[in-house]
Amino acid sequence: MDRTVLLICPEQSRMKYRISGFIEKECLDAEIAMTVLKQNGFTVWLYDGEIMTHSVQEELSKRHPDFVVLYGQLHQEAFMLEYCQLAKKCDPGIVTIIAGEDAQLNYRRLYHDAVDYILTGYDPNALLYVLGEDTGRWQPNGICHKVDGVWSQLPARSYDIRRLPWADRSLFDAYPERYRFYDHVHTAWVRTSFSCTHQCPYCAEPLRNRGEWCRRDARDVVDEIASIQAENIFLCDADFLCDEDYVSEFLRLLQEKDIHRRLFCTGRADFIASHETLVLEMKGTGFAGIVCDLQYCNDAMLSAGGKGTTAADHAECIRICKETGIHVYASFLVHPDFHDADFRDLYRYISDNGLLYTAVSVFTPEPGTPLYDAYKDSRITDDSCMYDHFHLTVRPSHMSLRLWYTRYYWLLLKLCRRGKREGICGFADYGTMMRILASALIGQKDPSEIG
Ligand code: SF4
Repeated sequence: MDRTVLLICPEQSRMKYRISGFIEKECLDAEIAMTVLKQNGFTVWLYDGEIMTHSVQEELSKRHPDFVVLYGQLHQEAFMLEYCQLAKKCDPGIVTIIAGEDAQLNYRRLYHDAVDYILTGYDPNALLYVLGEDTGRWQPNGICHKVDGVWSQLPARSYDIRRLPWADRSLFDAYPERYRFYDHVHTAWVRTSFSCTHQCPYCAEPLRNRGEWCRRDARDVVDEIASIQAENIFLCDADFLCDEDYVSEFLRLLQEKDIHRRLFCTGRADFIASHETLVLEMKGTGFAGIVCDLQYCNDAMLSAGGKGTTAADHAECIRICKETGIHVYASFLVHPDFHDADFRDLYRYISDNGLLYTAVSVFTPEPGTPLYDAYKDSRITDDSCMYDHFHLTVRPSHMSLRLWYTRYYWLLLKLCRRGKREGICGFADYGTMMRILASALIGQKDPSEIG
């Protein structure tokens, strides 16, 4: 009998005014599940809430799936639960499953009547197991389910990423004008590792895959890149540049296979600062940009933040990238402890250093991380939608909520204006920013309520 599965990646946000928009991610976890399910004889559809113009309700009515599997991050939690409820309303016989990043760290938050299973690890065989494909070949791994109405857990083991199949990119291929990385339309997301070798205290990445870092063979990654029908490739690891030998091997393989793509990756400033020659070689093999989390703009804040890099590392990183012609896609944090001057200093730092591609997100102690408990007394919301790194989830220390948001959006507005002046795509939503700020300044509402 034909068994059918609908994979759903919900929309990123339903906020009326969306500040983000310059990055449109591929649904990588769902695409990998798609490969595994197809290999095992399932009929599978993928619904990407960022791409589709019809509703989940319409998709459910059209497909009548046996199983619905949701993939999402923390800020999509409410949407995942809503779609499980919708599936049950459509047909109580549909089996609902939540998987993906949020389920790994926050599975207890997903215990809900409309949810049948929660997958808490990366092992795609766990999905086959709950879909009834228990052939005895796999031990159940990382599954929460209800026994007599009470949730029970089979703990997840870490999963060796080298066993993971390549993603099924049929949806990606069907939308050549979508999936963006800043100016670069149709960028494929390729992952080379799970978790991270560093332990920055504000970051959830090191906790993924049961805290165990593992990496694919460079040859397998390069072969996958060669198979992708897209000019732009983003290596979407927590930290791609963490091992000089691996990166050198990766570059050698790109040359050996004569692969010419526009490549982007992640990397830390201290690594870049101490590997100038390697960065030059990266430029020569097609690397166009490095996403670099610079966090803050002075040593006092960097030291308190626990990143382990210094302002001198950042200056050297920016110099090397400029001189080699690789763009730094710099990300910064604004903290609830910020004073007026900190917002101004951050803009000045970005401007003085000529950083064109910047993302400024809000320091967010996330559920599932030690910081969440550390900030429990100043927490102002537990609404998952507010954990999108564009909203405050803890109370500001030195000004009102309204004033803090006004400062933040003013900073973003200035960055938008600067980006627009420089002709950078993704910063074009200037009108939206103006409306958010105007509403805040004339005192109608807190910008957080509007956004
Ligand atoms: S901030 Fe970057 S380097 Fe630090 S733990 Fe997170 S992913 Fe790793």
